[in-house]
Amino acid sequence: MSGAGHAHVVLPLPIFEPYTYSIPETLADRIRPGARVVVPVRQAELVGIVSAIGVDPPPVAARDILSAPDPAPALEPALLQLGEWIARYYGAPLGLALKAMLPGGMWGRSSLTIRLLDSARIGGVAGTLIEWLERRGGSGSVTAASKALGRPIWDVADRLVRIGALAIDVMPPSTGPRPETERVVLLPTDRLTLVERDATLGRKPKQLALYQTLEQTGGAAPWRHLVDRLGFTDGVVRALVTSALAQVEEVEHLRDPFRETPVSPPPGPPTGAQQAVIDGVDALEDGAGGLIFGATGSGKTLIYLELIRRALDAGRGAIYLVPEIGLTPQTVARVRGMFGDDVAVLHSGLSDGERADAWRALRRGERRVAVGPRSAVFAPVQRLGLIVIDEEHEGSYKNGETPRYHTREVAAVRARLEQARVVLGSATPSLETMARIGPRLARFDLPDRILSRPMPPVTVVDLRSSPMVSGTSGVPWSEALDEALGEAMARGDQALLLLNRRGFASFMQCRSCGTVPECPHCSISLTLHRTPVGLRCHYCDHQTTVPQACGACGHKVQEARGVGTQKLERLVAERFPEARIARMDLDTTSAKWSHHRILGAMERGEVDILLGTQMIAKGIDLPEVTMVGVVDADLALHLPDFRAAERTFQLLAQVAGRAGRGERPGQVLIQTRQPHHHALVWASQHDARGFLDEEGRLRESPPYPPHLALVNLVISGEAEAEVSSKAMALADWCTGLAEKHALEITVLGPAPCPIARIKSRWRWHVLLKGSSEGLGHLVRAAAARLGQDRRVRIVLDRDPVSLL
Ligand code: ADP
Ligand code: ZN
Repeated sequence: MSGAGHAHVVLPLPIFEPYTYSIPETLADRIRPGARVVVPVRQAELVGIVSAIGVDPPPVAARDILSAPDPAPALEPALLQLGEWIARYYGAPLGLALKAMLPGGMWGRSSLTIRLLDSARIGGVAGTLIEWLERRGGSGSVTAASKALGRPIWDVADRLVRIGALAIDVMPPSTGPRPETERVVLLPTDRLTLVERDATLGRKPKQLALYQTLEQTGGAAPWRHLVDRLGFTDGVVRALVTSALAQVEEVEHLRDPFRETPVSPPPGPPTGAQQAVIDGVDALEDGAGGLIFGATGSGKTLIYLELIRRALDAGRGAIYLVPEIGLTPQTVARVRGMFGDDVAVLHSGLSDGERADAWRALRRGERRVAVGPRSAVFAPVQRLGLIVIDEEHEGSYKNGETPRYHTREVAAVRARLEQARVVLGSATPSLETMARIGPRLARFDLPDRILSRPMPPVTVVDLRSSPMVSGTSGVPWSEALDEALGEAMARGDQALLLLNRRGFASFMQCRSCGTVPECPHCSISLTLHRTPVGLRCHYCDHQTTVPQACGACGHKVQEARGVGTQKLERLVAERFPEARIARMDLDTTSAKWSHHRILGAMERGEVDILLGTQMIAKGIDLPEVTMVGVVDADLALHLPDFRAAERTFQLLAQVAGRAGRGERPGQVLIQTRQPHHHALVWASQHDARGFLDEEGRLRESPPYPPHLALVNLVISGEAEAEVSSKAMALADWCTGLAEKHALEITVLGPAPCPIARIKSRWRWHVLLKGSSEGLGHLVRAAAARLGQDRRVRIVLDRDPVSLL
């Protein structure tokens, strides 16, 4: 029965082996590696991706592939290869790697529907199917159709898809990303002359008006627009169509929520310094990369845009990656200001349908520039020439679930596969990137701000000795900060205040016994929130009321300790009653687009003081900000993670870089109890090179990246004993494997993770240090062992960015 051999199909499931199906003769031309297919899995029908064809048949008879809905493979060869690289390097099932690469709505356990495009008059089963669909208003689920017809319908559906009578959608049209079409009314190319028109339409004033309207709109207008906006009735439109004076066509309509957003023109021609970098990158070989190490405000954005323009001029496409939080209205406006409708923005706020539309437009080559956060590295840009990664040091470039890929690595591999270039940019590059500077990664320095604007002077305020404002209910608030903020307000400028902790207070503590309420599911203290009032866990969002008495000793007096952004907001409002204040943290930005709205208000000058967590530090260009205050620089300095100093430095240098970007000079105040910590010292001098050198030396012994590579194995489960014994067994297994193959690997632990419990699961980890080759060997061996056991889960994190 299977005329065309067998294929491997991967499903978006945590399974390492592909499934084998036979290829029906009728589908043979569409079954290629990378093609989407519908296959039977037990009782269900799932969408999967073909990973290989011409494979050996399985020992038992294989089932048939049911359908191949797309005329061209969803994943082109290079992207399929990229997925295979990710699966191998990160030790992830191929199905999950491919799942990360395609918009969610395009495959998976989605329900499959068929939709009538054209009521062809055919006999047989196909005719019966069409009649069934007509009775149902044009669409229905595949399962319902099979039931109604009393037979599987895939063969028939496929035939109808090929003659354009039917479409197969992977999701129900109500929620799903089937391309939205709209009916457009068109005038034929040979229009009526004035005389003819009067003769035919003279007695029909409404149809005449419609005809004239269509002429004025260039010969075409969407049906809905004519009716909803211009007041024609459906009857009039239909009449004009029936008399063959106009036609109707279904046109695919791109849902693009950014279509109406404002655009900003480029700020001017590139300066000499910018031009030198542009030319330098241009001279790189295809497949090579460059790091733009440019101060905050040195004008990196214009360089990226000019490089993208060059790629387009050379007939190629580009991907512009920004950290999730950096996808601001400003970024979108700048890119669209240069490339208009050539841009597809892949934003996390998009619906599945909008995302799939953007994906299709790129796949068809109708748009050539993709902008988005990390997953946009998989955008199906045609003839890819350039991948830009802005703020390359950002932790959000690492994917937080399987496959735990790092966008930087993926971009480098993709660029090699497609002979494109990668451009990284940052004022505070990661140590890993600096360590790679060499023949394959060139470095371009832009030490000065645009137009020689000065870097803002930074004042470090020692909280242990500086005069403080009293009565601030625990908020560290020096007179120096108070004055500087007051002066900025008096000048009519904008200010930023960073406090990297959300909530009101950080925790509650019993006055008598010192007990701090903790989350019952995670081993961290609960954070006190004011709006709404309650204690909340910042890991699992467990919420509870504020206790009236200590849970341990019953003492009535509970103290709120530490400060969060909510308390800061109240203090600032008290001290500067005239100021318009906005707060930006996870609590105020959980709704879609709220991040956009807050920054938009700031840009329009509707806000005087923007305060918030690290969100306010990232990649925003607000020329009216002349004052930046850091309320407590020490918050992240002592987290048990070897990158704590690097993160603190980056955060401080980035937020300091927000001041004085416009024509007026800025100033920065950093409050700390550790003014001599190297992260603070170098940040206050805006000296990233100085920091990188010192931090690099500190990581030599004991060795940490970039001097070697890491793999973190996190073992978690609800029974602590089970987790710890599994962790020990895993550590032994790693040690054994390393010895057997003489791998250069050190096994550390097992030990409880710094956050020992999250969401009721105990967590242990085994940390592996060594050469990337040795760890790669271990990852490949370990991957197959993982994910079998449901009670104890093992997560394999290669090149982890967080060890908490
Ligand atoms: P970076 O990303 O390096 O921190 P930006 O790209 O945001 O810096 O640029 C900083 C500021 O300089 C922006 O306001 C931008 O409009 C302005 N700018 C950049 N290039 C030029 C130029 N060639 N001429 C005039 N202004 C420029
Ligand atoms: Zn919790």
